[in-house]
Amino acid sequence: MSTARVVLVTGASSGIGRACTEAFLAEGARVIAAARRTERLADLHAQHGDAVLPLTVDVRDRAQVSAALGSLPADWTPIDVLVNNAGLAAGRGPIHTDDPENWDRMLDTNVRGLLNVSACVLPGMVERGSGHVVNIGSNAGREVYPGGAVYCATKAAVERITRGMRMDVLGSGVRISQVDPGMVETEFSLVRFDGDEAPAKAVYEGLTPLSAADVADVVTWVASRPPHVVVADVLLYPVDQA
Ligand code: NDP
Repeated sequence: MSTARVVLVTGASSGIGRACTEAFLAEGARVIAAARRTERLADLHAQHGDAVLPLTVDVRDRAQVSAALGSLPADWTPIDVLVNNAGLAAGRGPIHTDDPENWDRMLDTNVRGLLNVSACVLPGMVERGSGHVVNIGSNAGREVYPGGAVYCATKAAVERITRGMRMDVLGSGVRISQVDPGMVETEFSLVRFDGDEAPAKAVYEGLTPLSAADVADVVTWVASRPPHVVVADVLLYPVDQA
């Protein structure tokens, strides 16, 4: 029986989630890599072998999340670390002109998705009296930018959920942390602008954005403190981001 930590990363098929997967693997952990794009997860498995368990799941679908996490192979439980990373921004307009479908995608993924996964993983952690949840928030949860009201609201909600979750599990030994990145170069912008490369690239003009690996460094550091230490929240920015 392996003694390597088992880490569940949501949104492992690209960007920060993929980088977290690779950083935890480099530390000797085994990673359950969850996302919707099966072929991307298969690629991770092909590269890293049986240290990766691909898990095709849409975090918005509570029943699907519950079925997927409820039927993990026995040697992939218990989950020691959960990185709630799956998320997106959608749409570019103000609330009064934006397509409400975009609000739904953000609220359902960034907020309900995080809750759906946490609700499946936390009971086991609390029962065992150990485990660590790292929620990926954003600097956007601490401010608001034009056209970003709903995305910023979802990330502000993540911050409230992180704090509340910490209160919920207080005294159990389970740790709850949040990592808030500023601008990171990933597929995030391309998703936000529906695959339109020009505006997606323009976002990074005038500064060197964080890399996904920069964020993964922080996440693995947060998740490797001694058991009596919890890093409540980390905010990291590109040096030139206002
Ligand atoms: P990417 O677009 O590169 O990655 C997003 C990941 O989320 C993908 O793996 C995607 O996988 C997954 N995902 C999206 N929707 C779902 C869903 N319904 N179910 C399961 N997985 C889903 O962006 P980032 O890596 O940049 O984003 C990761 C997190 O970091 C997000 O929460 C984002 O809000 C946050 N963040 C990003 C910043 C940035 O500047 N890039 C800054 C601050 C925070 P798939 O499509 O295969 O399902």
